[in-house]
Amino acid sequence: MAKVQFDGVRKVYDNGQVAVAGASFDIADGELMVLVGPSGCGKSTLLRMVAGLEEISAGQLRIDERVVNDVAPKDRDIAMVFQNYALYPHMTVAENLGFGLKLRGHDKAEVQRRVREAADSLGLTSMLDKLPRAMSGGQRQRVALGRALVREPAVFLLDEPLSNLDAKLRHSVRTEIAQLHRKLGTTMIYVTHDQVEAMTLGQRIVVLNEGVIQQIDTPMALYDKPANLFVAGFLGSPAMNMLRGQLRRDEAGSAMLWLDEGLGIALGAVSLGAQWFDKPLVVGVRPEHLQPGGGAAAFKARIEGLEPVGNEIFVNLRYGEQALVMRVPPQQLPQVGQEIAVEVNASKLHFFDAGSGSGSRIEAEV
Ligand code: ADP
Repeated sequence: MAKVQFDGVRKVYDNGQVAVAGASFDIADGELMVLVGPSGCGKSTLLRMVAGLEEISAGQLRIDERVVNDVAPKDRDIAMVFQNYALYPHMTVAENLGFGLKLRGHDKAEVQRRVREAADSLGLTSMLDKLPRAMSGGQRQRVALGRALVREPAVFLLDEPLSNLDAKLRHSVRTEIAQLHRKLGTTMIYVTHDQVEAMTLGQRIVVLNEGVIQQIDTPMALYDKPANLFVAGFLGSPAMNMLRGQLRRDEAGSAMLWLDEGLGIALGAVSLGAQWFDKPLVVGVRPEHLQPGGGAAAFKARIEGLEPVGNEIFVNLRYGEQALVMRVPPQQLPQVGQEIAVEVNASKLHFFDAGSGSGSRIEAEV
């Protein structure tokens, strides 16, 4: 068990590439923390610095209060699972699981005990005599997890462990990882570019972009209160709709949102500071916060496409120049090419400064 602390941790590669611009955050003992962001954002570099596979250019990394910047990987009490599970093809599952322990000089009885326990945890007991080639991708990745598990490390590091699996297997192995974490209570750091994986697995999530931490919070807090345009656009599928507009106060002091398309939405009493008024904003609306309807905050849009996905329908809309996505329960809708009245849930709007991109979730009483 261990907590992991990043204190201004920075990585500049020899070619001058700043991969991590200076990360400061703590991972609590027993926490499952996900690092997420698009390809090249620096998440693997951050993980590899914890593993000791990449030198730290500046700052301090501590595992359980011990500064480990210059500690060799094998002395850090960590175990890492990679995306290409790289099992030894000529060894059985049991041999694959026990090999690392044997190399480290553990005696035979101890190796056997740990292999049995790991196999039991991962449902591999009946496969201990199999060779990797006789197993499915999901089973092989479980063996790779098991190989980390037998080490009984203080911290588990997982680098896109599911990316070689097909969608269905990804889901089942993801569930297994979550169960494993609950059972072991070991600190885990999990890297993925997949926002769905991040949202479903992480107790907390670090969102990275271009080497810079954008926001750290629980999945729902990130979804409900994204701190900036990047986080708002990255998390959520279909993505948040982004419109342009301005907030103004009418003579009575009530807040009005004026979209550039001309629609005025009365917001009533809003808990937004004066700095959000009378300047260009990006207005974020999640697809589920648009619905068919004709209330005060409604506008007419043309249906450009309908995507039924079973339990809901994604409706692609055109509103002036703007493409929007609305997400609705299955229902009868006008056909493609026709107009529909769309209502905005004005209590769920997000505002972002059009210049800096920093944001605030509206707290309106509409
Ligand atoms: P991610 O895991 O988010 O895809 P990485 O941590 O692999 O991102 O990379 C972050 C940045 O550092 C990228 O711009 C990448 O091109 C660069 N980078 C990664 N490894 C090296 C390296 N060995 N030398 C130089 N630049 C690197």
